[in-house]
Amino acid sequence: MGGIVVNLLIMGPPGAGKGTQAEALIKELNITHISTGDMFRKAIKEGTEMGKKAKEYMDKGELVPDSVVVGMVKERLLQPDCENGFLLDGFPRNVTQAEVLDETLDSMGLKLNGVINITVPREKIIVRLTGRRICRSCGASYHVLFNKPAIEGRCNACGGELYQRSDDNEMAVINRLEVYEAHTQPLINYYSERGLLKNINGDQDIKKVLEDILLSLNIR
Ligand SMILES: [Zn+2]
Repeated sequence: MGGIVVNLLIMGPPGAGKGTQAEALIKELNITHISTGDMFRKAIKEGTEMGKKAKEYMDKGELVPDSVVVGMVKERLLQPDCENGFLLDGFPRNVTQAEVLDETLDSMGLKLNGVINITVPREKIIVRLTGRRICRSCGASYHVLFNKPAIEGRCNACGGELYQRSDDNEMAVINRLEVYEAHTQPLINYYSERGLLKNINGDQDIKKVLEDILLSLNIR
């Protein structure tokens, strides 16, 4: 049996657990994770057509235009490991990119099966992010409530000093969330109008979140 092809997109604010769910989903569905950040670095390193173009803009300190970003995604989608399905992460960033993605998938005879939008109440995200502490020596991550180190302020693994990232203070977190929401709302509307949006409650046990995602896709 070849299994079903599932083409997905995942969205969620910082601190919603998007990365964790993306990892779990690609394992569960045996699909390919396409994170645009990783894809960019790889295309540039391998010197693909679009990678070269993107590098030209980046070297000049300019934003890479939508056409190039979409071109890179298209190059990636054509690779054989996407035949079983893919999970797009970090793309599209705006409605223009979403429209071009639709056209691209259409021209390849593909379509999106769902857009997973992980939601967590703002107060909960603030608690999640402002409580994070990172080890200065080894980079291990802790939380003052949910993942306490054995000795306060010290890393379990290496004894290094734990610190709070400057962008994890409450004002900075609120600012990040507001920027995220403002940028994302048009995309949420876009996919909602097309009946693809799956709002998933991210404020529950990690396994339950995954279960809800799978249920929302009607593949269980
Ligand atoms: Zn450490």
